[in-house]
Amino acid sequence: MFHNNKKVYLDYSLCLKAEEIDLIKSFTEWLPDKIIDCHVHCNLPEHVISMEEKIYKHMGSTFSSFSLEESQFLKNIFFPGKTVRSLRFAQVFRGINHYKANQYLLESSKQEDRVALFGLPEDEEYTISMLSNPRVSALKMYYSYVEPTATKIYEFFKPKILEEAQTLGIPIILHLPKIITESKGDLKQVLKDFPNLKISIAHLGSLKVLIPQLKSVFKEFTTYENIFLDTALNPSPEIVKLALDIFGEDRIMFGSDEPLYLIRSQVFIHPKKGQWLITEYLYHWVDEENHRLYSHLASGVIHSHWLSMNAIRSAINTFTAPERERIKEKVFYKNAKTFFKF
Ligand SMILES: [Zn+2]
Repeated sequence: MFHNNKKVYLDYSLCLKAEEIDLIKSFTEWLPDKIIDCHVHCNLPEHVISMEEKIYKHMGSTFSSFSLEESQFLKNIFFPGKTVRSLRFAQVFRGINHYKANQYLLESSKQEDRVALFGLPEDEEYTISMLSNPRVSALKMYYSYVEPTATKIYEFFKPKILEEAQTLGIPIILHLPKIITESKGDLKQVLKDFPNLKISIAHLGSLKVLIPQLKSVFKEFTTYENIFLDTALNPSPEIVKLALDIFGEDRIMFGSDEPLYLIRSQVFIHPKKGQWLITEYLYHWVDEENHRLYSHLASGVIHSHWLSMNAIRSAINTFTAPERERIKEKVFYKNAKTFFKF
């Protein structure tokens, strides 16, 4: 089950709304000149062999491929005049030829950009041997790549692979199998087994709305100095602020989740059904019935990129003026530069 809607989705996303044009301008003024984006998905259409239904029904399948050229093209639109470097890795679902996608990124990425190997839990030998490739700067593996979807970290980040990553000092990009408050014990076990493993927790721990327990959970992890967090697609100013307050300004890194940040959606709290995403556009993964009922609530919705950028800016703006400049520089550049060795 696979068809490529990329062109229509790109056309829809790049037909910029007035609010988005204003946001591009205001962030161009606000952002530092040098930026590192440490969470970018990139592979070619020919690397996509198949797509399972569980993936197809997920928003992650909106852009099954996105090339280096498209990535550069998008950076020029969203960050005009800035020098943006990226840490890229392949799309994360099964059905991608990750051997070829990894090879593509390793061979074709610009020297100043970085590549995270997409590791394969079913091929430990390959994954371990590739970690020694001098162009590999990080390791990405994904909880939903395995079947059934993993609920524990070791189900997809195999211990032997983590051992090698720790030995080589290669950071892993960890999208937790559950929200951080629920994956807490599991993560602690990994930290106990691999005390020197460098970990970038994606999406600030995957919660999109602040919940009361998050503060104490963040606090429990601050003692592990090898834990960093990326901001990818987190729309909550409160969570970004909490992360900056608790982990400090040296451990939060900007990640965009390109090209998924092009999706125009917003989190909607349904009185009975809880948290879900509503969209104005009928993407292939949107439930038609819900779309009919709720899409009016999403009229005027902007790229999810801006929700996350606004969240970062609001959080940073709670600091004093001199602090703001320093924090911006660290979150958008310096922290990732050190962590991923740009
Ligand atoms: Zn991602």
